[in-house]
Amino acid sequence: MKVLVGAATDIGQVREGNEDSYLVLDPLFAVADGMGGHRGGEVASDLAVQTIRRLFEQHEGSLIEQVERANRAVFERSQSDRAVSGMGTTLTAVVVDDRGGARLAHVGDSRAYLLRDGELDLLTRDHTLVQRMVDEGELTAEEAEDHPHRHILTRVLGGEGSVSVDEGVLELRQGDRLLLCTDGLTGMVRDDEIRSLLQQTSDPQEAAERLVHAANGAGGVDNITAVVLDVVDGSAASSEPPSSSAVSTRTPVSPLRTTVPPPPPPEERGGALLAVRRAAVWTAVALAVIVLGVVALRLYVDAQWYVGVSDGRVAVFRGIPAEVAGFDLSSVVVETTIPAEEAQALAVYRELPEGITADDREGANEIVEQIRADVARARTTGT
Ligand code: MG
Repeated sequence: MKVLVGAATDIGQVREGNEDSYLVLDPLFAVADGMGGHRGGEVASDLAVQTIRRLFEQHEGSLIEQVERANRAVFERSQSDRAVSGMGTTLTAVVVDDRGGARLAHVGDSRAYLLRDGELDLLTRDHTLVQRMVDEGELTAEEAEDHPHRHILTRVLGGEGSVSVDEGVLELRQGDRLLLCTDGLTGMVRDDEIRSLLQQTSDPQEAAERLVHAANGAGGVDNITAVVLDVVDGSAASSEPPSSSAVSTRTPVSPLRTTVPPPPPPEERGGALLAVRRAAVWTAVALAVIVLGVVALRLYVDAQWYVGVSDGRVAVFRGIPAEVAGFDLSSVVVETTIPAEEAQALAVYRELPEGITADDREGANEIVEQIRADVARARTTGT
């Protein structure tokens, strides 16, 4: 099997530089989206991609190890060079062997997709706060798409001395098409539009360029990068794949004209960008505080027990008998067969619906046994 490649990157309509990088070093392909003040983002994504390139050429380690080494390289540079301190990058990379086995490595919110039989499947999981909230059922996938904080990353290459890298394997078939892209594409163009553009355009280079055009047409608020890989029969590779040592970087694509207003003069713009960055930092700090608060509350709530009423029966609850902003802070652990009405008929258990708190689960069970005994006694004595 062979891979035909198309790749395109573009600064977009708003940014002052292109902090995305990509690598086409058949059979290794990657995209990276750098971040960090000044030139940090550009340095981070380029350093990450060049590090895996060098290690791959030297046959050093597995893809995952190469990505871990790239993390180390970006982190160390960020520690030692004040001009790029705090920089980081996403990295989504794939290696395709000649039998069609694909190995994926991924950190951040760039993405890999597979187009097979007309279906577009996302192969990677975004390492973002918003994705985490979707996973935990706090947001729907739809709400996440337009969420103002969807760019806050929970994992980034170069942020710390070590990073956990998502790994995936996949058996490719002839006719499959892989897409590696940065969030400048997926933030602007919906998946179903990406799918139809990929389906309508057979040439991979043209497909990559059309994706970039589409993102620019939708506003191009971020740098945009797309690498399209077509899996073809080895004998049918008449359309000239790139030579095996070719490394392409930054093939600019002329952006579509859009109705985006002209950028303000440089000084004002710099100030605005700085303010936006500062706001983003404070938003992240505020979110972290909220998340910690929620986690602490959760831990506290989960350690509480009480006996109350569920479905007209006496039940053991974990949590506290309260509701915050529509969220129940408790859940039923055991529902007994004791009718709540009979228990409440006894003066001592009149407050049962409000919950009788216990020190722990043992304590809650003891209260239940006490209620059971008292109800049974009331039945026989008729009191
Ligand atoms: Mg980006």
